[in-house]
Amino acid sequence: IDTKLTEFEKNRSLASLSAGIAHEIRNPLTTARGFLQLFEQRCEPADKKFVELTIRELDRIHALLQDFMGMARPDDESTQLVDIRELTHSVYQFLRPEATLCGVLLNYDVPSSCVLLSVQADRIKQVLINLLQNAVHACDKDGEVHVSLRDFSDHATITIRDNGCGISDMHQLFRPFQTTKSNGTGLGMFVSKHIIEAHRGHLQVDSTVGEGTTVTVYLPRG
Ligand code: ADP
Ligand code: MG
Repeated sequence: IDTKLTEFEKNRSLASLSAGIAHEIRNPLTTARGFLQLFEQRCEPADKKFVELTIRELDRIHALLQDFMGMARPDDESTQLVDIRELTHSVYQFLRPEATLCGVLLNYDVPSSCVLLSVQADRIKQVLINLLQNAVHACDKDGEVHVSLRDFSDHATITIRDNGCGISDMHQLFRPFQTTKSNGTGLGMFVSKHIIEAHRGHLQVDSTVGEGTTVTVYLPRG
């Protein structure tokens, strides 16, 4: 028991140290980006593209830190009794503009009464944003993403189904830094799995290349 505890303590302090560093990098990054944007407006036209490129690279660092912070956050955050229906709805609302921008139709289907589960709300929200964003980005024209929530006696499931490109390499899916996107971090699935397993739930992924992908999140009750 003693060694287990030390291991836990060690992981926890490593996690909070990493989260702290990520946070400290983010602040000056935001300042630098702000000044670059100002500079972009007054620099020589020939230099504009270099400034744009620099801003894009800073955005990449920002995305990496954002995803990394989700992973590095200590796991001792307290759980609250949350209406998952409301949480799912807020994620759906949050991603609607992005879906519209990508020409993707976002559908949504939830039970008529609330679905109460004891969870770390912000972390579950982060998982759903990750999954929904992946689904939207997997689609091209005629893209459709369907989000549904089901309530069972001992667990609830959230299913995100898309008719996008499908996943060609399932073995790489949960590996950190594995991405097929030019602006991806490859941390989304890795972090999501970590968060759901910390809730004693699991993720199921079914995918067919050229047809689409269905990701189901299982969350136990109590
Ligand atoms: P990122 O989104 O930053 O690339 P993720 O860990 O969220 O990182 O996803 C890793 C990779 O898995 C993606 O780059 C993509 O190739 C693949 N992927 C994840 N979800 C889907 C999906 N719904 N449809 C197709 N491919 C997906
Ligand atoms: Mg992602």
